[in-house]
Amino acid sequence: MTPTPHPSSMKSKLRSLPGLLRNHDGALTQELVLRPGDFGLGKVPARLKPDATTTVVCGFCSTGCGLNVHLKNGQAINLTPTTNYPVNLGMACPKGWEAITPLHSPDRATTPLLRNAKGELEPVDWDTAMQVFTVRFKAIQDKFGRDSVAWIGTGQICTEELAFLGALGNFGMGMIHGDGNTRQCMATAVAAYKQSFGFDAPPFTYADFEQSDVIVLVGSNLCIAHPIMWQRVLRNRNSPGIIVVDPRKTETAMAATQHYAIAPKSDLKLLYGLAHILIERGWINRDYIVAHTTSFEEFAAFVKPFTPESVAPDCGLSVEQLLRFAETIHRGQRVSFWWTMGVNQGHEATRTAQAIINLALMTGNIGRPGTGANSITGQCNAMGSRLFSNTTNLLGGHDFLNPAHRTKVAGILGLDPALVPDQNSWAYDQIVQGIDDGKIKGLWVIATNGSHSWINQSKFAAILKKLDFLVVQDMFHTTETAREATLVLPAAAWGEKEGTFINSERRYGLVKKISKAPGEALADFSIFKLIAHYWGCGGLFREWTSPEAVFQILKRLSKDQPCDITGIRDYRMLDECGGVQWPLREEVRGERREARGESSAPTPPPLASHLSPLASTERRLFEDGRYYHADGKAKFIFEPPRDAPEMPDAAYPLQLLTGRGTSAQWHTQTRTAKSAVLRKLYPQNIYVEINPADARRLGIRAQQKVAVKSRRGTIHAAAFVTGTVQPGQVFIPMHYEETNRLTFPSFDPYSRQPSYKACAVAITQVRK
Ligand code: SF4
Repeated sequence: MTPTPHPSSMKSKLRSLPGLLRNHDGALTQELVLRPGDFGLGKVPARLKPDATTTVVCGFCSTGCGLNVHLKNGQAINLTPTTNYPVNLGMACPKGWEAITPLHSPDRATTPLLRNAKGELEPVDWDTAMQVFTVRFKAIQDKFGRDSVAWIGTGQICTEELAFLGALGNFGMGMIHGDGNTRQCMATAVAAYKQSFGFDAPPFTYADFEQSDVIVLVGSNLCIAHPIMWQRVLRNRNSPGIIVVDPRKTETAMAATQHYAIAPKSDLKLLYGLAHILIERGWINRDYIVAHTTSFEEFAAFVKPFTPESVAPDCGLSVEQLLRFAETIHRGQRVSFWWTMGVNQGHEATRTAQAIINLALMTGNIGRPGTGANSITGQCNAMGSRLFSNTTNLLGGHDFLNPAHRTKVAGILGLDPALVPDQNSWAYDQIVQGIDDGKIKGLWVIATNGSHSWINQSKFAAILKKLDFLVVQDMFHTTETAREATLVLPAAAWGEKEGTFINSERRYGLVKKISKAPGEALADFSIFKLIAHYWGCGGLFREWTSPEAVFQILKRLSKDQPCDITGIRDYRMLDECGGVQWPLREEVRGERREARGESSAPTPPPLASHLSPLASTERRLFEDGRYYHADGKAKFIFEPPRDAPEMPDAAYPLQLLTGRGTSAQWHTQTRTAKSAVLRKLYPQNIYVEINPADARRLGIRAQQKVAVKSRRGTIHAAAFVTGTVQPGQVFIPMHYEETNRLTFPSFDPYSRQPSYKACAVAITQVRK
């Protein structure tokens, strides 16, 4: 018999009934009524009806999509992807659609914060913050030398700001050591291109995705890491063969025509094995090799022992698979090779990238539509950092070690050449080691979150505590790194300032101010200007009055370099062109005018008609077969493969792979986690992918909590039992704070990029 409910409980149930039947906190009907949005937007809710629109470049990844921002009273209220921007052609990934949301997050840094005697961060004014910044850093330099203070920058701020940071750090504040978080993603491509081509020069344009008949993706999960580039692949009308080399059956591998699930970090052997087959069978382009390359005969002799029979077992593949792979390259008329973090983040990453370059060179698949040895960049302005941050290069792709370059750069900037360091900076890992050794006492971190992203996090946290003074300049005061700071400088975000980004295909795109920065937060550009003033070196930056004024300085710095942009007149030209790929020399622009029978006199015709041919131009490098080495030729570079530094053993029998989780997540999630929409698109709690065979052997059920243990630390995660990882391997996305407590700190010797992709772990059940 069902018990009769107590009258008081009945009453409370009845009271809650209207709430169950009708939701009172949703939108009112009148708010849902759609009205014409104008500006070609179709219909929009009345509250989102803009009074103007403008185009900006997205501030997340290196694809560099154009976004139409809808404005009301000068403030961004919504956005849509730009339909005629040559990069994304009207498409955006979830991050792009949600780009405005993080600007309004409640944990924005709105005022400088200084740690007080109780160990708490408390608000101070900018004058106090600047006094503390200069007094403390100068005191450290006076006591321990000018190289005892360093900076760690980013690929997330504008090119003009990166140049300001590098010039201020090196020439103004006298620092020697400054590096960027681009060391974690692109340093390998930089080193590989410099050595092979003579300059850091990714040769491609996105149109190559649509023009290839064979697309080879090595260590790249394009579908989710660069979703709009993947859309460009899907627009390819040649039914291309899509070859994916990746230990995991990623989303991209599932969509490929051939997937080679190699053993982790056997990629260098595989690439040498392919080169062996191509040479042995005569599937190479001898004319191209002779005319445009050096060291091929040495390379051919080197790969002779890499027979399919010797290589296949080490790669976890069959001989037939290797032959099929090589034959597909041979049969392709326009083969493009692409790589990203699966290659760049390895213990022999530079040589692996160069092994890909070697394949393109030996088969003549470079400098033509649909070809190339193409590194896909990570962050929105990784390339701005590569060329203009004074970290891996002296400003403008120059060389700190070259006296002529130092004199040239000093001359352009009106500096005493003695202010330009005659040595290279330490790389990120060497700066961290310098802190550990007590050589670096002060650190200035700008728009990056090393306390989450740096490899071997357990040790990193302890090392940071050794600093006398840590300054973090960021849009949030809540990042793992900002929480450790002595001083936090509140920075304006993407969309709250102006400048340029350079995307993966070398395209300069424009960032505009579409929203007001909160509280007292300032553009990084303004913070650098303020620091220069308080430091007493403001005179060096008299000409650096605005981002666009600095852009004109960058043009002068780039002159006669492979990255020459003297032909880009100004920001307005970038805006009207839909961005411009480097190089664009001034005379090229003049020659185009002359070719159209126009005067080369300085007075140009009306801007839009004058520039339209450029807007539709996709440009790739090396179409003339000339490279940047003194002899004009590309080099074959190679080296014997080495085992990964930490291989599985009895105690740690599984290989941990790390990488991107979903297209809705970005790096350490400082921004993407602020969007309720994006949060719905990925698991909130850390998980580990494990093969069903391993799960069975270890008695692990789906979603069960497990302990993942490496020699550096132990974390807990939910088991995601899936065939996307091979037996003996597990995968954890990099976006979770815990992931890098496990990773092993090894570095490629040439690029000094950390090897995040493979280390040894053990997994056990967690019993309650
Ligand atoms: Fe932004 Fe990259 Fe997404 Fe394009 S693909 S919308 S640039 S995050």
